[in-house]
Amino acid sequence: MPELPEVETIVKALSPLAGKAVSSVRVFHEEVLKIPSHLFCRELAGKKLTSLERKGKYILFRFGTEWTMVMHLGMTGQAIVEPAERPDKHTHVRIDFGDSSFYYRDIRKFGFLDLRRFDPEGLREYFNHIGCDPFQVRKENFISLFKKSRARIKPLLLSQKLVSGLGNIYVDETLFRAGISPSARAFRLSRNSLSRYFDVMRGVLREAIKKGGSSIDDYVRPDGSCGSFQECHQVYGKAGQPCPRCGTSIKKIKMGGRGTSFCPRCQK
Ligand SMILES: [Zn+2]
Repeated sequence: MPELPEVETIVKALSPLAGKAVSSVRVFHEEVLKIPSHLFCRELAGKKLTSLERKGKYILFRFGTEWTMVMHLGMTGQAIVEPAERPDKHTHVRIDFGDSSFYYRDIRKFGFLDLRRFDPEGLREYFNHIGCDPFQVRKENFISLFKKSRARIKPLLLSQKLVSGLGNIYVDETLFRAGISPSARAFRLSRNSLSRYFDVMRGVLREAIKKGGSSIDDYVRPDGSCGSFQECHQVYGKAGQPCPRCGTSIKKIKMGGRGTSFCPRCQK
């Protein structure tokens, strides 16, 4: 599932579309839309894309002060810009911006596109429940938020409630680098540990953005190329291999229904 670095990479790659107007919209499979396709097509037609923005794992396409298209890539969603790829049976929506075409492609169809009036009310249902952005929250606030929670750190991070944007890959990778066990209770972690985690989290996310994200499963950049942060993974997908720090075998367990890789020796 695309996480913050992948979504950020997509936003950057789509940014040349800003300033262009929608010249045509085609919906091949309506299931990925949250509103009826005739409304989706009618309201987007002729509108100028003014800016793109990431919020957690969502991408917001702002069309002036009137409309916002919300995109979430779910498990296997892809945002593709021509001429990277031609539509195939998994391409559900095509939006032309003059000479550039945007495709939404999604094999498992857990992702979606929605079109909302651009007002705080209209977008509230998406963003009410999500926490601060890792790059916007201040360290002191981050520490006190986590100090107040009795939840286990990994499910807490995955829930998006306190900070948004990290999923299974980056939670496993950041907890390993910070030496924190995925099952540690947040409030039991010392302020020093949380402070270290905060720095590691930002560092890993920055590095992953620089490398265009992790191309695991279906994620590719909008031009069809792969990111390369998967080459830097130390525990994710490494079960049974030696820990890069201490040589102990990386363990994989299920936690809250999600595969969780960690070093039982380095992570306390
Ligand atoms: Zn280790």
